[in-house]
Amino acid sequence: MAFRRLDELAKSDLLGKEVLVRVDFNVPLLNGEISDDTRLRAALPTIEFLRDNGAKAILLSHFGRPKGQIEPTMSLAKIAPALGVLLGQTVKFAADCKGHIAQNAISQMQNGDVLLLENTRFYAGEEKNDIGLSKEIAALGDLYVNDAFSAAHRAHASTEGITKYLPSFAGFSMARELDHLDKALGSPTHPILAIVGGAKVSSKIDLLENLVSKVDFLAIGGGMANTFLASLGFNVGKSLCEPELLAKAKAIGAEAQKRGCRILLPDDVVVAKEFRADPPVRTCLSNEVAADEMILDAGPKTVAALANIMGNCKTIIWNGPLGAFEMTPFDLATVEAAKKAGELCKQGRLIAVAGGGDTVSALNHAGVADEFSFISTAGGAFLEWMEGKELPGIKALNKV
Ligand code: AMP
Repeated sequence: MAFRRLDELAKSDLLGKEVLVRVDFNVPLLNGEISDDTRLRAALPTIEFLRDNGAKAILLSHFGRPKGQIEPTMSLAKIAPALGVLLGQTVKFAADCKGHIAQNAISQMQNGDVLLLENTRFYAGEEKNDIGLSKEIAALGDLYVNDAFSAAHRAHASTEGITKYLPSFAGFSMARELDHLDKALGSPTHPILAIVGGAKVSSKIDLLENLVSKVDFLAIGGGMANTFLASLGFNVGKSLCEPELLAKAKAIGAEAQKRGCRILLPDDVVVAKEFRADPPVRTCLSNEVAADEMILDAGPKTVAALANIMGNCKTIIWNGPLGAFEMTPFDLATVEAAKKAGELCKQGRLIAVAGGGDTVSALNHAGVADEFSFISTAGGAFLEWMEGKELPGIKALNKV
């Protein structure tokens, strides 16, 4: 992909330079403690590269949704020491992301130092992509690096506006993400299977419409498959279903046929009368659901068919669980299908890329996260990319 990369810069380009790095340190907290430091770790290669090349790394991030107000509970101050432990060096903190407080802190930096600035969203101009704020932040440095793919779907001052005023590059975490996504959908090896599950068709219309024009097989699972089954005239009983989208489901089916994309719907399903863990269940064909039953997972025939197709594919792109995976036994189809994909990846027969919200927890639950070629932890940005949308934070890094 033709975007500017940090490693295109030589040591002489970086030595002594003040480099603004947009990271995503919007980490989850539990009782005030960081409960998952994945996002801090993701930024380490870029920060270490800058440090080792004698640059001064000045980190910018949002945290929570303070909506343009100073909100002490959403300060990044507590993140600096945790990052320092991971980096093995002191990370200083400045209580503002612009102006004299930030400037003073930067003026005291030595080559190789790391400084974290306060939450960019304490200014309303951040989310408005305000020119003034973009310029004020840009004035703090010589170069800009974006290492926050998960924030790249937003045109904000610290992700997009700033790139107009500084030479801008993708950091290592961003580049790694973009390279994997490109392999899965940008310039992938066919045949490609897309697996799309989750609750509702309504939240994934753009995604389905984009996929039918790009992939060879589209497996639809989860609650959203019910709407597709209903559009074919199947009785889905009490299942989650969106009757107002039956025509849309048919249109997507017709478009898929035109484009040579085969849509795979569940042949068999696991049904129950109650939406809870471990209720009495039965497995039946998709056209045998009774009026008082709801579909909560795909059945074994469906999983076997999916596994068979996986074996003939070179690329899988996956978003959304195949069933209500948070409750046993409705995690089975997702777990079995994920294991099969993981196994094929391990054998080098398949590239499998997955991402988006619940998908990450579903694959972690299946214990195959390490076997997949790549799992994106970005929610909205991953989905918008899968929808074929241009992400403003990425566009700003493109080579002209
Ligand atoms: P999404 O956020 O759209 O990816 O949807 C994920 C959610 O869909 C999870 O919480 C699943 O429990 C839910 N889900 C998947 N299959 C079903 C189903 N058949 N009925 C109800 N909810 C489902």
